[in-house]
Amino acid sequence: MKKLLFRIVRWGAVLLVMVVIGLVARGVYAFRDRTPGYALDLKIEAAKSRAAPKPLRVGFARIKINPNLSDPKRPVWVAGFSHHRAATAIHDDIWAIACVVDDGYTRFGVVALDAIGFFHDDAVAVRRGCAPEWKLDYTTVCSTHNHSTPDLMGLWGADVLHTGVDPRYRQQVIAAATQALGEAVAALQPARVAFHEIATPTDGLVADTRKPIVFDPDIRVLHFTSVTNGATLGSIVGWANHPETPWSKNTEITADFCGFLRDALEHGVTHEGRVLAAGVGGIHLYVNGAVGGLMTTHPSVTVRDPYLQQEFKEPSHEKSRAVGHQLAARILPLLAATNAAATDIAPIGIRARTLQIPIDNKLFLAAAYLGLIDRGHVHWKKMRTEVALVTLGEASIACVPGEIYPEIINGGIERAPGGDFDIEPVEVPALRELMPGRPKFVFGLANDELGYIIPKSEWDEKPPYLYGSKGVYGEVNSCGPDTARLLHTALAELCRETKSPGSGK
Ligand SMILES: [Zn+2]
Repeated sequence: MKKLLFRIVRWGAVLLVMVVIGLVARGVYAFRDRTPGYALDLKIEAAKSRAAPKPLRVGFARIKINPNLSDPKRPVWVAGFSHHRAATAIHDDIWAIACVVDDGYTRFGVVALDAIGFFHDDAVAVRRGCAPEWKLDYTTVCSTHNHSTPDLMGLWGADVLHTGVDPRYRQQVIAAATQALGEAVAALQPARVAFHEIATPTDGLVADTRKPIVFDPDIRVLHFTSVTNGATLGSIVGWANHPETPWSKNTEITADFCGFLRDALEHGVTHEGRVLAAGVGGIHLYVNGAVGGLMTTHPSVTVRDPYLQQEFKEPSHEKSRAVGHQLAARILPLLAATNAAATDIAPIGIRARTLQIPIDNKLFLAAAYLGLIDRGHVHWKKMRTEVALVTLGEASIACVPGEIYPEIINGGIERAPGGDFDIEPVEVPALRELMPGRPKFVFGLANDELGYIIPKSEWDEKPPYLYGSKGVYGEVNSCGPDTARLLHTALAELCRETKSPGSGK
């Protein structure tokens, strides 16, 4: 009897050790670094280009990234709202759209993906896929944060235990982004650039679903035209809103308002055979800005289509179109006009840096452990990400690796009553105060998607909740309370190091 008991205990111990080894091995694998040793500390000064300017060149290209919906055995899981949302159709095409700018010294590439988010090592994979002869000094891969596209982050699969990412689709997107950059390089041609800042009231367009109510409301545009004939080559449009207009029940792949906007800029707006607005041609990118906190065309928002003179409240593709048309109606007149301020001299300066962000979010850790979030981790509870500040002529662009709250960009962070820390605002001064030049673009979800970037003094997981509310949404999709401070510090440093385009230094 004693012998049997001894045997049971011995085998039990062996089994326990094996289970522990298995669990540890799983952890080591899950938290492996997918881009070991990757560290960027890029400093490209615009000074040389300013001292002896050469004419600007630009190239645009786009590659479709529609998923394959023809195999019933491989459902395509739509990202952004809930599990088990299988795509049923392609309503309109989704794209990887690239713009490459060259000032004769430095070459900068931007890719905008119709995607929920793209992790840092996937952005690195795009870079590594670029041929050396393309001579790209720096590329930034941005996601529009579209909630009607295939899961690329792993959180929206068949159920909570399974990733929604199809690795083949991820490879398809990496390849498309790379190819788009290559084709944009091949398309480089002499160009002028004009900058536009368009004040845009948020009423009937965007809601902020979390206090304090702060928006990043304005539209900013980089408009590139041909030196030879003045024709539009393309543009980069920056605004801040969640592309989730068709909402949670939609199962059709769509580029949302971003796609309708791009189409309207290129082709104009035609309805029932009548031309309501003329397009300007070219290829247009939509890049999202400070969408945290949370900027959304919520189902409670009624949007008026300025061309069709119709109002849309219920989530639908027509409502997405109305949002796209709202933006197009503001942008098109500026693109169609001859812009005397357009210039073919736009020196490029780039500062880009990798940094490590702690993961305090237990759900993110569990998701990584289970293989749902399959991204590079520098080690346990740390992930690598990247910030950048690019100057192009008078304009500057802050590349932010996630969904930053607008108050960190524009000011207005509060010592929020009910917040977990009860401290004065940490992420100050506002980044737009520190950024050089004008206009000051924010490219959100750039080279990564870390989730929400929440001011520490507004961080709230424990009751009492902010401003007497019953609870807040945001923290569940954030790495932790120090993410904002670390990113703000890093971006502020890049701003201080970058000499103002106007200063002549
Ligand atoms: Zn979001």
